[in-house]
Amino acid sequence: MTTIRTEPRAEPAPRLIIDLATIQNNYSRLRDLAPAADAGAVVKANGYGLGAAEIVPALADAGCRTFYVAHTSEAREARDALAGRAADIYVFNGFWPSELPALRKAGIFPVINELAQLEQLRELAPDLPCAIHFDTGMNRLGLGAEETEALIADPARLDAIDVRQIMSHLACGDMPDHPLNARQRERFTRIRAAFPGIPASLSNSAGILLGPDYHFDVLRPGLALFGGVPAPGHPSPFEPAVTIDAPILQIRTLRPGDTIGYGATYTAGEARRVATVAAGYADGLLRAFGNGGYGRIGETRVPILGRVSMDLIGVDVTEAGPVAPGDPVCFLGGDIEDMADSAATISYEFLVRLGLRFHRIYKPAAKRR
Ligand SMILES: *Cc1c(COP(=O)(O)O)cnc(C)c1O
Repeated sequence: MTTIRTEPRAEPAPRLIIDLATIQNNYSRLRDLAPAADAGAVVKANGYGLGAAEIVPALADAGCRTFYVAHTSEAREARDALAGRAADIYVFNGFWPSELPALRKAGIFPVINELAQLEQLRELAPDLPCAIHFDTGMNRLGLGAEETEALIADPARLDAIDVRQIMSHLACGDMPDHPLNARQRERFTRIRAAFPGIPASLSNSAGILLGPDYHFDVLRPGLALFGGVPAPGHPSPFEPAVTIDAPILQIRTLRPGDTIGYGATYTAGEARRVATVAAGYADGLLRAFGNGGYGRIGETRVPILGRVSMDLIGVDVTEAGPVAPGDPVCFLGGDIEDMADSAATISYEFLVRLGLRFHRIYKPAAKRR
C-alpha cells in the first residue's frame, strides 16, 4: 500500500541541481589557497557539462576575470554569457588562420601551440593578444623542447606580439608523488625566466593542491570549482556542487529468486524492497553503475540493483525506512568520485556526460562584484 505524494516538480522526471553559490565558494577557496596568484577558471565543454551560460556569470560575480575553453565556439558562448563584462578568454586548442579576424572582433585570445602559429598571428592579426603554451612533458599540446629552445634563444620572435600569458600543463598533478611534477615545474621555471614580465600559468585543480611552488602567477582550475576531487584519495577542500534528484516511480518487494531488469543480472537471495527510479543512462547515469553504484535517500545509501536502463534504475530501499513514490533519490553530490570509480571512469567524464533532458535547476549565486 503506497500513497502517491505530490512533489514540487512538473512531472516525475529527474532534476539536475547545480549550486552556483557553492561554485563561487570553491572559487574563493582556490583564491585563498594561492593568495599571490590570479585565479582564472576553465569552463570548457559547456562548463564541464553544467552550463557555461550560468556558470560563467556566477564566476564573474565571484571576481573571476580570466576564462579558458578548448574551442572557439565555447569562447563565443563565454563571451555572450559575460554580457559585456570585461574578461580575458583563452582558447587552448588554437585556431585556424581564417578564424583570426573573427577572434579579434570578439576579443577571444588564442593559445599558440607551435611557432608556425606565432607567424600566422603576426601576419594576420598582430594586435590580437595571445598566450603561448610550452610543453614541459605532457606531449599533447604546446611548443615542444626544440621550439621552446629556439624561442628562448631568439626572443625577438615575440617582438610586436602581445603575449599576455605563458602556460604549461601538468601530466600527473593528480599523483602528488609522481616525479614528473617536479621536472615539469623546473622546466617551466626556466622558461619563465626567459620571458620576464609575462604572467605564467602552470596549475590545474590538482596542481594547485601540490603547493605554492606550483602556483606561479595564474591558476587554471576546472574540476575543483564544481566540487570534483582533484587527486582522488587525497583530501580536497572543495564542496560538491552538483546533485541529481530523481523521483521514485514505483516500489515492489522481491521474493528470493526474483531478478531485476534487463538480462536478469541481479537475483534476490532474500526478500528485498526495490524502488524503480526515474533516471537512467540517457541522463548520464552510466550503464556501468549497474550492480555497483548507489544513490541516497537522506543519508542512507541505496545500492543500484541490476542493470541501469535508458530511463530507469532499480535501487534497494530495504534499509531506507518508509519511502513512497514521488520521494527523491539523490545521486552524485559528495559521492561523485566514488561513483565514477565504481564505473571505472573519473568524475570529469561523468560530469560532461550528464544528459541533456534533465530539468536543470540552478541554485542562485551571490552577486558580489
Ligand atoms: C582542462 C584543463 C585545465 C583544467 O583542469 P582541471 O583538472 O579540471 O582543473 C587546465 N589547463 C588545461 C590546459 C586544460 O586542458
